Amino acid sequence: MKVALVGIGKIARDQHVPAIADSGDWELAATVSRSGSVTGVAAFHDYDAMLAERTDIPVVSLCLPPQPRFDYALKAIRAGRHVMLEKPPGQTLAEVHTLAAEAEKAGVTLFATWHSRMAHGVAPAKAWLADKTITKVTVTWKEDVRRWHPGQDWVFEPGGMGVFDPGINALSIVTEILPMPIRLTAAVLEFPANRHTPIAANLTFSDGVSAVFDWRQEGPQTWDITVETTAGRLDLHDGGARLVIDGAPAAAGPDREYAGLYARMAELVKAGASDVDATPLVHVADAFMLGSRRTVLPFEF
Ligand code: NAP
Repeated sequence: MKVALVGIGKIARDQHVPAIADSGDWELAATVSRSGSVTGVAAFHDYDAMLAERTDIPVVSLCLPPQPRFDYALKAIRAGRHVMLEKPPGQTLAEVHTLAAEAEKAGVTLFATWHSRMAHGVAPAKAWLADKTITKVTVTWKEDVRRWHPGQDWVFEPGGMGVFDPGINALSIVTEILPMPIRLTAAVLEFPANRHTPIAANLTFSDGVSAVFDWRQEGPQTWDITVETTAGRLDLHDGGARLVIDGAPAAAGPDREYAGLYARMAELVKAGASDVDATPLVHVADAFMLGSRRTVLPFEF
């Protein structure tokens, strides 16, 4: 299937282009970018022109930040294209609900991707937890924003979500593996004095679940989830890539998250189905609604 990639930035180059190249299902048929291109692939500057001229391309994959993405997605859906959204699926929940309704009306596939759910340990963690009684869940997601988002000021602009940009990956795993729904009950958000979005967050949920997100961690990076149950303890390390149960390695492997996303998109298009789960974004929205605000030191890249 032919796919057009829109927004040739960090994640497009790091993950989407190699995942498409390695897949037997997909051909990268066009890019749309204000400045970038991919060698050997038709390059458009004008998105409307690509949609109008390349009617042979049925799928559009949007690798843009959340702020501009809704308008691009709506245009693609209304032009009869199947759409794959980077995470988070919208700046707001209303954007996601609107896109889902529009896709259904147009009879096209909408896939709101959560790449972390494709990590090696996630499916076996979900299977192990399915019949367990959970007593405590601790999420620690601490990374260096300068390393993962160098110079990307959009993360600190309204709609960029700040530390929830990585934190929502943790929430996408937690909401996938736990056998019960959870709800946020309290949050403390730390905003740099010169920025619009938080650089750290401390979240308390129902059912013994808590999470700490921090974007100021230099040196080793931490993406861990620990689940304590009445029948043992589960640890997910490295963003879900490595699963340990009661201290014993249970699953691990090389990165295959984006390969998994494109395989799933191929299945969805073939089945005429959509996959839009906004649950992780619900918790982020609730953190902004319930969170108390702390002002911390100004941040510059
Ligand atoms: P990025 O490199 O800053 O931006 C991606 C591309 O989007 C830019 O190169 C630009 O493409 C286009 N763009 C940016 N602002 C735009 C605007 N206002 N209007 C139109 N186009 C615009 O961001 P990224 O790190 O790739 O992140 C993009 C999305 O992927 C985010 O939702 C992020 O959460 C997700 N993601 C990122 C990572 C990561 O490690 N960075 C990992 C997983 C998921 P052109 O210059 O080509 O027009």
